[in-house]
Amino acid sequence: MRVLVIGAGPAGMRCAEAAATRGLAVTLAGAEAALPYDRVALGRVLSGEAEPGALITHDARTLRGLGIAYRPATHVTAVQAGTATTARGETLEFDRCVLATGSEAVRLPLPGAEMAGVFLYRSIADVQAIRRHVVHGTRAVVIGGGLLGLEAAVSLSQIGARVTVVHAVGWPMERQLDAPAGALLAQQLGATRRLRFAMPAKTEAIEGAGHVAALRLADGSRIPCDLVVMAVGVRPHVALAQASGLAVNRGVVVDDAMRTSEPSILAVGECAEHLGTVCGLVTPALAMAEIAAATLAGDVAAYAPRPDTAALKVSGIAVWSAGEIAPADAEAVTLTDEEAGHYRRLWLREGRLVGAVLYGDTADAPFYLDLMARGRPVAPFRAHLAFGARFAEAA
Ligand SMILES: Cc1cc2nc3c(=O)[nH]c(=O)nc-3n(C[C@H](O)[C@H](O)[C@H](O)COP(=O)(O)OP(=O)(O)OC[C@H]3O[C@@H](n4cnc5c(N)ncnc54)[C@H](O)[C@@H]3O)c2cc1C
Repeated sequence: MRVLVIGAGPAGMRCAEAAATRGLAVTLAGAEAALPYDRVALGRVLSGEAEPGALITHDARTLRGLGIAYRPATHVTAVQAGTATTARGETLEFDRCVLATGSEAVRLPLPGAEMAGVFLYRSIADVQAIRRHVVHGTRAVVIGGGLLGLEAAVSLSQIGARVTVVHAVGWPMERQLDAPAGALLAQQLGATRRLRFAMPAKTEAIEGAGHVAALRLADGSRIPCDLVVMAVGVRPHVALAQASGLAVNRGVVVDDAMRTSEPSILAVGECAEHLGTVCGLVTPALAMAEIAAATLAGDVAAYAPRPDTAALKVSGIAVWSAGEIAPADAEAVTLTDEEAGHYRRLWLREGRLVGAVLYGDTADAPFYLDLMARGRPVAPFRAHLAFGARFAEAA
């Protein structure tokens, strides 16, 4: 059976590898020019800790060894029964096709957003472009204080930029952290990484004559800068699925076996929408890829989502969260050790853990994740729950 995987990000690569290992004839077509690489580790290239080549996960020899025909710089524009068309006008034939087109970074539609010196943070090409613009003392603004924005800000600071993070909400990573944990994080990033924060702050325009000179905020203040990185979120890449007539909501709608509305076409990773949810992390994207490979091989397999977890990849800063954060209808258990800079808050509904934030000490993350994933009642050890696995399990 000939399988065409479209998109060579982590999900596409994993699906191609798993399908090839099961003896299927796989072609992997990706829009990016690079060999498949570890997107999650891009911050290490931005910070100068790694060369771009170090992120490559599968070189040409490995791909050949797996029997995968790799086609880089191949943008697929349409898929119909059995054939895909590329932007260069080629036709690729297949029996089954997998969309793994991932997400694109959102560019805020601000005045000045297209100016030189404004960058996105999604691909190796983006990171290389940013690096070409940074010298010691460059004044950088990162718009967006989520996971990616903070990682970009820390990496920029590591290569000598003076960085301000502009964030619309009152504390960073508000989707993963509650306000007290967010405040601890901002304080620690300021003290240890010299990051400045403007929050809550709304960006109104990027000013400059041909090149970025300042960011104007809604309150009229200006932040002079030489470089702007937008890290304000991603949206699923669904243009190809739409052009091909597949059912699309926010993402390409898939069933448990990763089949789209056209059963010969599957979708995996961040472009796929399963049970109304689009994933934004690599672990579920890879899990979907494995399920799709099994489906392609004729096995019965079903994707079962697990609670999302988030961890910041900044050395010396231990922060982790999972599940629902500060839901209004849950009770909270809080443990704080101000001296040590430790904070943890757990949310319970109907006697079960539904969300957790750990700051300063994240050693118990696997324990809490397991409780959530299995929906285990916590009543037998509730009094010890906040102290972690060692105490709860001894109770
Ligand atoms: C800097 C950074 C750090 C991150 N850190 C973490 C982390 O710590 N933990 C975590 O869980 N996640 C992290 N993520 C998110 C993680 O990278 C994504 O969850 C993961 O890449 C999703 O994989 P994917 O294959 O579904 O999509 P993508 O990685 O987006 O890959 C999709 C690929 O498809 C290609 N494509 C799109 N349309 C077409 C087309 N029509 N034809 C051909 N090719 C096409 C794209 O060019 C792209 O190469 C990070 C992301 C970034 C940018």
